[in-house]
Amino acid sequence: MNADLHCHCSVSDGVLGAGELVRRAAANGVGMLALTDHDQLAGLAPARAQAAECGVRFIDGVEISVTWEGRTIHVVGLALEPSGAALCAGLAGIREGRLARAQAIAEALAKIGMDGALEGAARHALNADVIGRTHFARYLVECGAAPDVRGVFEAYLVRGKPGYVAHEWARLEDAVRWIREAGGVAVLAHPGRYRIGSAARSRLFGQFRDLGGVAIEVVSGSHSPEHTRLFARLARRYAFLGSCGSDFHAPGESRCDVGRAGALPEDVVPVWHLFG
Ligand code: AMP
Ligand code: MN
Ligand code: MN
Ligand code: MN
Repeated sequence: MNADLHCHCSVSDGVLGAGELVRRAAANGVGMLALTDHDQLAGLAPARAQAAECGVRFIDGVEISVTWEGRTIHVVGLALEPSGAALCAGLAGIREGRLARAQAIAEALAKIGMDGALEGAARHALNADVIGRTHFARYLVECGAAPDVRGVFEAYLVRGKPGYVAHEWARLEDAVRWIREAGGVAVLAHPGRYRIGSAARSRLFGQFRDLGGVAIEVVSGSHSPEHTRLFARLARRYAFLGSCGSDFHAPGESRCDVGRAGALPEDVVPVWHLFG
């Protein structure tokens, strides 16, 4: 099974429209695709319709921004009901916070002489309430601040840099609850991305499991082969199922194309066994 259970379209910080993304996934041989936009479900209906035309099994998903012990982590929800009331209300709250944070990022950038960043970032986003750092990064590449999105993040947008604004996202228990109340499955996204010691990681995995989280991403476009081996081992230790996703955002920008993240190791039980 070529499953890609983590990717983004233009309703969050991807660049392809939902339909275009699904067609690209199908062309890359994806048999099962979950669209997981940040804090946003608006791409699911058009993606699902396109997937039906392409013969791709489609899974409704989301990637929720969470603050846990002062760190930002991401929780993916899969196979959820997009009309879930608690989920929709929770995501709407996060998007309100996103808008306020975008204004604060623009103010921080103005202080170092980069004016007009809110308008610039907004030109790269479908709606003001989905604006994220990636939209600022694409605008700042346009301005020549750095040669590529990654370079802009490192110079301006990560913690300790002038355009970084600390932000309080959803609580872990709320994000997992919204997903579960919508009938979905909660998956810890790209655990290899978090700069976290092994003691904090154990707490995170234990709490996530106790809250009803059932899987972690073992294979991710953001993981090295060493990460994949480590998280396969930890998935077995914690009795988590394993997920697999590219985290694709844009051709030429993302490290991994949609459908090209690689296969789940054979000794990990795939999360899609739950999908029936
Ligand atoms: P936000 O949720 O607005 O803070 O933006 C987070 C998004 O920024 C992630 O989902 C990635 O798409 C992107 N991102 C985060 N860190 C980096 C990085 N170092 N280089 C490139 N993109 C990044
Ligand atoms: Mn993103
Ligand atoms: Mn993420
Ligand atoms: Mn993602």
